[in-house]
Amino acid sequence: MNGRIFEIREFTLHDGPGIRTTVFLKGCPLRCVWCHNPQGLRFEIETLRRKDGRAWVCGEDWDDDALARELLRNADIMKQSGGGVTFSGGEPLAQARFVCAVADRLAAAGIPSAVETSGYASETDYREVVSRMAFVYQDLKHHDSAAFRRWCGGDLGVVLRNLEWLRGSGIPFAVRVPCIPGVNDTPADREALKRLAGESPSMRGIEFLPGFPLFAKQ
Ligand code: SF4
Repeated sequence: MNGRIFEIREFTLHDGPGIRTTVFLKGCPLRCVWCHNPQGLRFEIETLRRKDGRAWVCGEDWDDDALARELLRNADIMKQSGGGVTFSGGEPLAQARFVCAVADRLAAAGIPSAVETSGYASETDYREVVSRMAFVYQDLKHHDSAAFRRWCGGDLGVVLRNLEWLRGSGIPFAVRVPCIPGVNDTPADREALKRLAGESPSMRGIEFLPGFPLFAKQ
């Protein structure tokens, strides 16, 4: 089956253990005002402009078999380093069946997968993808429903329902919070986010990621 991506980045070191290849899936159902990945927002293939004014086509369709074969070119390096493939975006769970198909092909070749997700997906899609993953980076962007709707454009309950399932799944995961000045970066916000993230034997911690500027739209 086909899926749509906008980048394959090889030899990444911060998207999971070991040396990895990160695949960026195109399209996201949320609209976080600080999003630093605008090429991942729209599901359509589009023409964007670089800072120097040159145009480039963002988005490319791949067959799951072809993408898995491309990713497996680095299989030896991944295996030697304890690495694998990370699915990022955009929102990879928005193309759940495609991610599952690629992950299954990688697993058959002995390569584990990880996913970076906002958690904004149906329970079915979330469980289908996440149950195939060796590690999950689960975003938690806000603790307050009204603020989440205002700043991200979605229903926080969807994320929390999936997070609750993840906590009980036994799958290793870390919660990631992008720290946005004026949105979720007070000490009280952090405490509320820690409480909401909860505890689980398979939780490897909560990461507060600094340095996300707030873009103009408010
Ligand atoms: S979930 Fe991620 S990709 Fe989607 S809008 Fe928010 S920051 Fe951007």
